[in-house]
Amino acid sequence: MKYINKKILDVDDFANLQSIRKPLDSHIHLKKVYEYKNDLKNSYINYIFFAKRYKLKDLPRSLKIERVGKASFIEHYNNPKYFSDFISDFRNKNRSNFCYMCGSMNAGTLDHLLPKDKYPEFAFFSKNLIPSCDCNSKKNDNISSGINPHFYQECNSELFYLDIVIHGRLGNEVQYGFNIKVKNSFNLNFIDLLNFHLLNHIIKFSDINNYMKNHCARILNNPIQALSIRRKLSRSQLVEKIEDLVFIATSEADSPNRWDVILYKGLLKKSVISYILGEIYKKYP
Ligand SMILES: [Zn+2]
Repeated sequence: MKYINKKILDVDDFANLQSIRKPLDSHIHLKKVYEYKNDLKNSYINYIFFAKRYKLKDLPRSLKIERVGKASFIEHYNNPKYFSDFISDFRNKNRSNFCYMCGSMNAGTLDHLLPKDKYPEFAFFSKNLIPSCDCNSKKNDNISSGINPHFYQECNSELFYLDIVIHGRLGNEVQYGFNIKVKNSFNLNFIDLLNFHLLNHIIKFSDINNYMKNHCARILNNPIQALSIRRKLSRSQLVEKIEDLVFIATSEADSPNRWDVILYKGLLKKSVISYILGEIYKKYP
């Protein structure tokens, strides 16, 4: 995951709302947007209030807006008559292939964090639009997701780590324990939110857990091949080799939260390095 900084998107949603002029009678949808300008403004204020307190998942729904404005607000997003530029601009600037929501390497869409069907008032609210992969749309109406990368600069720090515990070998297969955990270097509210996001978004709606499991098994079962080790290495040479992999993967995603980075860092644990060294010495005594 990654923080969406102001350089990428700096939109004044309140000024945008204010700029809407009274439309001609024939514009039914725009008329509704105009008519509900103040309600939309209050909804935005509410959204920001809850997001800043790490409580976005508890945001109350505005039933009134859902009833009267749904079709119109969604239509305005799909076919904007006002401030359409930022939406296409945001989309174009984010053709990167890194998902802001789950950290996978296949983003490509601009998605509503709170789904526009359930929360039409945020259909064209910039802070509710997130470049992501399909992890977000898989949620459908489920709004359990906790993290909104517009608000949390913490998203640029390392959020997770992989805890690997090697038990030993059984024939060709290595036996090990494997756990994705949240780092505890943040304030408690953010840690709660991250744990929630990990369980209810990343593990539930992305393929990350399987990806990590398979990749980890591939490396641990045959580290010589997986890490292209061609000769005997000392401990510090092995550590350096893995640190190089961390460095390359981090710069590719421009974030420490790419899952390959987290995996390679997991290998740097002392006991895991010792295990890999043991495998190297078996091959190159
Ligand atoms: Zn994703």
